[in-house]
Amino acid sequence: MPWVCSERRRPSGHAAVRLLAVAALALPPSAHASGISRWAMGTFPVGGFSGYTSPFGMRVHPLGGDLRPHYGLDIAAPLGSPVRSWWGGRVTQVIRDGGCGNGLTITSGPYEHQYCHLGGAVSGNIYRSGAVALREGQWVRTGQLIGHVGLTGSTTGPHLHWGLRYRGAWLDPARVLRAMAESRRRFLPPQRRTPNVGQLR
Ligand SMILES: [Zn+2]
Repeated sequence: MPWVCSERRRPSGHAAVRLLAVAALALPPSAHASGISRWAMGTFPVGGFSGYTSPFGMRVHPLGGDLRPHYGLDIAAPLGSPVRSWWGGRVTQVIRDGGCGNGLTITSGPYEHQYCHLGGAVSGNIYRSGAVALREGQWVRTGQLIGHVGLTGSTTGPHLHWGLRYRGAWLDPARVLRAMAESRRRFLPPQRRTPNVGQLR
């Protein structure tokens, strides 16, 4: 008898359940949960951090001068700094408009994370910057390079606008960064605790 793969059984129900459990574990925890080790798995979304320039919430619009909600956190970083996916997920939107500029929305379970004012270019449904080429529907890993800090859209200087939605509602990304920092402090060995996260009050 020739050497062949003889395994004909389909994966058992148990195996399928285990796979689903692993997939669920890889997702970020509930937005309302803190003190959970899984938060430590997230990646700070930009390298070359130089400060938080505008928090989430109501603010006087820097260009319009009127009071408007700001649905995200602005993280200043030098032009061209790497932008990394906060969590593994699927690219659900490649954006090119006057506000966000070049941007991406990535969906990870109940979360959508949005990255605005990126450098590079959008043509059709593909975002390109340096070695990065991402199209809608593509999967990305946690920490994967997904673009670079740019000056596209409505912005007064180079920064990443990072938006986060949980079950469709905007969330303050600073809360999530705090949960990540706390989780790293509690659950990771000292050499792995530095998450490249600036101090958040
Ligand atoms: Zn912003």
